[in-house]
Amino acid sequence: MKIQLPKYFEYHDEHGNFAYVHDGILYMNPYMNFEKLMYALTYLLKGEDVCFYCHKPLTVGNRTMDHAFPRGLGGISITNNLKPCCNKCNVAKGDLIAKQYQQISQIQSKQRKREAMKNARASNARAIKRQGILIPRKWYDLKREYSIIGIFSSDRPSKSSYKYRSLLRKYEMYKKICRPVVVSANKFVLDGFMVLLMAKNLELNIEIPFITLDNVIVVM
Ligand SMILES: [Zn+2]
Repeated sequence: MKIQLPKYFEYHDEHGNFAYVHDGILYMNPYMNFEKLMYALTYLLKGEDVCFYCHKPLTVGNRTMDHAFPRGLGGISITNNLKPCCNKCNVAKGDLIAKQYQQISQIQSKQRKREAMKNARASNARAIKRQGILIPRKWYDLKREYSIIGIFSSDRPSKSSYKYRSLLRKYEMYKKICRPVVVSANKFVLDGFMVLLMAKNLELNIEIPFITLDNVIVVM
């Protein structure tokens, strides 16, 4: 898949890592924090002044970044999935998908609203049970065999980390991988390192959701 990119972009972090957009391709240094980079790109693309959901002005104090498909459903930090929004809306939306939250927000009756939220959550849970993740099907491929050139991550999770344990818990519950691995066009892992770590540790021989970002290239 392709991520949304601005025409011009240049970014340097405090550690001397760089990223830039040229001819519709994002080039990035392998040690760049991918999530931070996606946040910077999203603010540039979508603005950082108005909440995506309630359209009220955002301030430095109440500005958050929402995942339209929540992390808990396999939603990843890429520009296509990120929406600048206010703290209040982010908390109210919780683990709902953006579209579900927007529809439910229209409901006037508090009781009907609560019911709609409950139904949406139950429907999401069923989907997770069925397929492991709940993001657009065209974003990912299921792969049993995969080749990776490089893994560079500023925060490689360990087996004792919270992220790893929660992934493992979900795997034990559903026998599915509940997080995708995100790789650049030239097969560097950008996100989901722990999925590979878990698959290797448990010697899993199951399909893993892979998102290949066709317009992102890691350069040394
Ligand atoms: Zn809001």
